[in-house]
Amino acid sequence: MDAHRTSVSSDTATDPTVEATGQEKLVTSSIVSPEAVTQFRIELKNLDIYYSDFLAVQGVSLQVRPQSVMSFIGPSGCGKSTVLRSIDRMHEVTPGARVSGQVLLDGEDIYAPNVDPVLVRRTIGMVFQRPNPFPTMSIYDNVIAGLKLEKSRGVKKSSFDDTVERSLQGANLWDEVKDRLDRPGAGLSGGQQQRLCIARAIAVEPEVLLMDEPFGALDAQTRLMMQENLLSIWSEFGITVVFVTHDVDESIFLADRVLIMSASPGSVIDDLNVTLPRPRDPAMATGSEFMALKKICLDQIRAESLRAFEQQNR
Ligand code: ADP
Repeated sequence: MDAHRTSVSSDTATDPTVEATGQEKLVTSSIVSPEAVTQFRIELKNLDIYYSDFLAVQGVSLQVRPQSVMSFIGPSGCGKSTVLRSIDRMHEVTPGARVSGQVLLDGEDIYAPNVDPVLVRRTIGMVFQRPNPFPTMSIYDNVIAGLKLEKSRGVKKSSFDDTVERSLQGANLWDEVKDRLDRPGAGLSGGQQQRLCIARAIAVEPEVLLMDEPFGALDAQTRLMMQENLLSIWSEFGITVVFVTHDVDESIFLADRVLIMSASPGSVIDDLNVTLPRPRDPAMATGSEFMALKKICLDQIRAESLRAFEQQNR
């Protein structure tokens, strides 16, 4: 087996949580019992994901270790976002959408009948491609939107100032907004809004952060800055990160593991270990390990894209 590879086994308006923040850890009570300690933060077991009768994702099984960074890449429409949304039960917000198989968070099945999907979405942070700050809320209130709902954890109002500063520092936005925290979040630039959404997601200290093309809408320079920023958030906050991207360089630069998905119905066809040392340095992108991984990724995505094209034109 290749040294890089591990074995491959493969609109939100109605949801009050989603409506409340657009990202999802809002209460503190955990769905995870203290006894449920496993070596994996997330496990997907033989997961099939449907939109009504359409099988979008087939037979995905994988494990994600705590505090690791995993990325999904693959041809457009292969089901990357669908897998990601199944991990916090956002998927089922779409009418007719369902899964079969299991998604375990710290060993507990988040689709078990006694688990509240709203609570799951509050336990796992999510950042979307398009920044979605609450337009009428101030920068400050955007950051603490999730915390304010964490009444069950007894989060003290007095700690909000510290959290706002730490989260905005973490998202690399503090210096730009510290003098105008009372101004609307919607008044920020696109890149700043995305950092605000990241600050909002990390303010509630989620164990898991899901990111769906988080930098896809940003210009190249901001994107590079945000990639490095994500790595510092990851190392400072010790979060487990799972993200989707169509950018192979981004995928390798950020992740410990890159999962490549097949054309529809999406399944995991390769699982690459990225053993580049951390902290990562953009200069690594010209090194031999990076280039070898990139070639594997590009070859497979090209082959799968071709297959998808042929399928469509059959
Ligand atoms: P990717 O993120 O890899 O581009 P998606 O997960 O968005 O792919 O989509 C996977 C498949 O599911 C595609 O065929 C897409 O058309 C389909 N799909 C995505 N969202 C919906 C939806 N809300 N209803 C029906 N089909 C959907």
